[in-house]
Amino acid sequence: CGVFGVYSENKEKVSNLIYFGLYALQHRGQESAGIAVSDNKEVDYYKDMGLVSEIFNDDILASLQGNIGIGHVRYSTTGESHVENAQPLVVKYKNGTIALAHNGNLVNADALREILEDEGVVFQTSTDTEVVANLLARYHKDGIVKSVKKVMELVKGAFAFAIMTDNKLIGVRDLYGLRPLCIGKLDDGYVLASESCALDTVGAEFVRDVEPGEIVIIENNELKSIKSSKWCRKNLCMFELIYFARPDSTIDGINVYLARSEAGRILAKEAPVDADVVISVPDSGTPAAIGYAEESGIPYGIGLIKNKYAGRTFIQPTQELREQGVKLKLNVLKENVEGKRVVMVDDSIVRGTTSKRLVNMLKKAGAKEVHVRVTSPPVKYPCYFGIDTPYRKYLVGATKTVEEIRDMINADSLAYISMDGLLKSTGCDKGFCLACFNGDYPMEVPLDGDNKK
Ligand code: 5GP
Ligand code: SF4
Ligand code: MG
Repeated sequence: CGVFGVYSENKEKVSNLIYFGLYALQHRGQESAGIAVSDNKEVDYYKDMGLVSEIFNDDILASLQGNIGIGHVRYSTTGESHVENAQPLVVKYKNGTIALAHNGNLVNADALREILEDEGVVFQTSTDTEVVANLLARYHKDGIVKSVKKVMELVKGAFAFAIMTDNKLIGVRDLYGLRPLCIGKLDDGYVLASESCALDTVGAEFVRDVEPGEIVIIENNELKSIKSSKWCRKNLCMFELIYFARPDSTIDGINVYLARSEAGRILAKEAPVDADVVISVPDSGTPAAIGYAEESGIPYGIGLIKNKYAGRTFIQPTQELREQGVKLKLNVLKENVEGKRVVMVDDSIVRGTTSKRLVNMLKKAGAKEVHVRVTSPPVKYPCYFGIDTPYRKYLVGATKTVEEIRDMINADSLAYISMDGLLKSTGCDKGFCLACFNGDYPMEVPLDGDNKK
């Protein structure tokens, strides 16, 4: 998911800025989107299923007036893909109204929900965000900032929150900093965004990333910060850099494009091959393919054309939709691969659906050889923190050797980048969650049995 928040003196423009911010974050979720604004007295909101551009129009944006606002784009990891689960979640409580936009996934939301339900609390959605809203309301007595602190101690998992009250915009990043969140400055206010690319879109100047465990509060156009007393290890999700984030974003000081292209260069050294052309699986594989081509001296070419109107295949909730998605999304440019030895660079193999299809399409188009190069190590463990990697049994990296995967996808050779190489590509040797590769989760996760998620 993606979150975006604005605090501005000019209430005419807040909903428009959020619209542009969400538009820039659309790659983080395409199921539903919403905007909530507050004019210091009342909260208005609008949300629906679909893309940002499908949901909002000038009239709707003009009806959303306020100095403070938050927005959300969603792809579901918990809670079904229904409009009731669209965000921001807006609730009334003792002290007014709270709107919440959440990116990430909590690992103890079910347990917390059960405790609340035992006490008679009712829920309207199946999302963990509503659990958080309830907890915030429960600890209202000492004000919202204290209740946010309290909730941070109770909830476990990955979260970047944009929270709006009647007069405050609050940003929170979990103790590990698994999900990104950054702060931008407008001439007359502040912006919070999942990724820095959205700051550029609205003309905000990048100030800094929110730190792991930090709460930032923007009120009366001033920014205050509260840091967690618990010292925390930074564990940015490596998949943000590999796949999820936009290449023109910089997260925790790491530029996504540079990290991806460097990974391609490193992979060219680790796993060279004689070939005629290097092609990418667009879009997420492109920076890495360019890096691989540069380092190997093999020319980069376009071998696959992506339909610009197709969404992200992985972000389709069912396997059937996903398979349909690959066909809709990518087609071979026969003229560039026919009779050639092709290196196909992708950022990851998760289920293997994509690579298998593409290798076969390339061969059918006349490619002599197809060598697959992947700029992340084999994905062997599920993610519990908001990236929708599947149950272990569906992860080809968990159940098959590299040679078996090569055979399954029908490639002439297959190589993954090493963990060392991947770390080197970021310029940092620590500070990441790498659990989907090595099973070393930064916190306890609900593991019960090898095949469970
Ligand atoms: P597969 O078809 O092997 O399941 O998925 C691999 C493809 O999906 C790659 O092209 C990659 O760009 C994309 N992808 C990989 N990982 C993720 C992920 O965690 N989330 C999403 N959304 N997409 C992924
Ligand atoms: Fe990211 Fe993988 Fe960690 Fe999930 S398990 S947060 S996808 S690095
Ligand atoms: Mg891809």
